[in-house]
Amino acid sequence: MPDRLYLSPPHIGPDELALVTEAFKTNWVAPVGPHVDAFEREFAAYVGVEHAVALSSGTAALHLALRDLGIGPGDEVAVSDLTFCASVNPILYEGATPVFVDSECRSWNLDPNLVEDLFRNRAARGRQVTALVPVHLYGQTADLDALVALCERYGVTMVEDAAEALGATYRDRSPGTFGRAGIFSFNGNKIITTSGGGMLVTDRAETAAHVKKMATQARDAAPHYEHSEVGYNYRLSNVLAGIGRGQLRQLDARVAARRRVFDAYVDALGDLPGVDFMPEAAWGTHTRWLTCLTIDPEAAGVTREDVRLALEADDVEARPVWKPMHLQPVYAQYETVGGAVSADLFDRGLCLPSGSAMTEADVERVVHGVKSVFGTRTSRSAG
Ligand SMILES: *Cc1c(COP(=O)(O)O)cnc(C)c1O
Repeated sequence: MPDRLYLSPPHIGPDELALVTEAFKTNWVAPVGPHVDAFEREFAAYVGVEHAVALSSGTAALHLALRDLGIGPGDEVAVSDLTFCASVNPILYEGATPVFVDSECRSWNLDPNLVEDLFRNRAARGRQVTALVPVHLYGQTADLDALVALCERYGVTMVEDAAEALGATYRDRSPGTFGRAGIFSFNGNKIITTSGGGMLVTDRAETAAHVKKMATQARDAAPHYEHSEVGYNYRLSNVLAGIGRGQLRQLDARVAARRRVFDAYVDALGDLPGVDFMPEAAWGTHTRWLTCLTIDPEAAGVTREDVRLALEADDVEARPVWKPMHLQPVYAQYETVGGAVSADLFDRGLCLPSGSAMTEADVERVVHGVKSVFGTRTSRSAG
């Protein structure tokens, strides 16, 4: 029996162990140190931004981005409906109110028309949404030109959740660089990992300095411990930053590998009835962090759950597309603009194993598993 095939396991490169060893040898086993500084510099250069702050998670990064913005009770924050809960919880940590906005079909990301409907609706009532948090899903950016224009027109501040889109581009620019701040995640299943970690990027020196301060218990400049605001313990450790530096060196190769995995799936499964892959919008490069597809049960004769369970029986991990926020019991009280597109993508969408270390045999194992379900159902309905 072959090993379990995971959705997106870590892929360690040639440099990580030496970089971590260096942290031990120099006794920088601390939440600050030379690897943290270097990781921030190298990351900022890669993304093309003035400042990067290494943090303990992507969630912590989004929390501090919103806290730096100063949102609180009475503020509304528009956020993608189709996403992971970590895009939303930091809004609630600060006591603000999320408003969920549905996706468009061409990118699976925020529909600018619905964002405009929301902004216009509030303006008509003499109100204003305080912030917009677009999520760049599964390795693809949202339509940033359209969203930036809307934010400018209606006086809304943008903070980008680019946790899933490191390595992607929008018109040759990295996501995370279009708003006041952007955040990335180095969780174990992301395109690069520090086992756990995150990064906040911004061109604003004040924001970078404030976030660094808040991440280290908001200590004021004084020889003793002096505090004039509430802080957090959110800094990335120097050991983990060493892993991150090694991972970052491999990022372009990881994107290329994930795109190759996607292409192999399209070649092998693209002709199956009722199967459609997540589209790549014309405005940039999709990293294919995860290969996502939809299965139309009428045309296919099978559901995404039939396929997922067949893969699971062969110890292959596949996962439904994110369950939209408006369908999550914990957020039931909040307003949603639209919701039919994200609900449909959840009903029919499946993410296949997409790791950058997958072999041709691994891909073939998944392909075989998917095809076997289609094969049995087709012959059954034919008989
Ligand atoms: C992974 C992820 C996060 C959170 O990142 P962590 O590092 O796990 O805290 C936030 N938003 C999205 C869309 C994610 O996929």
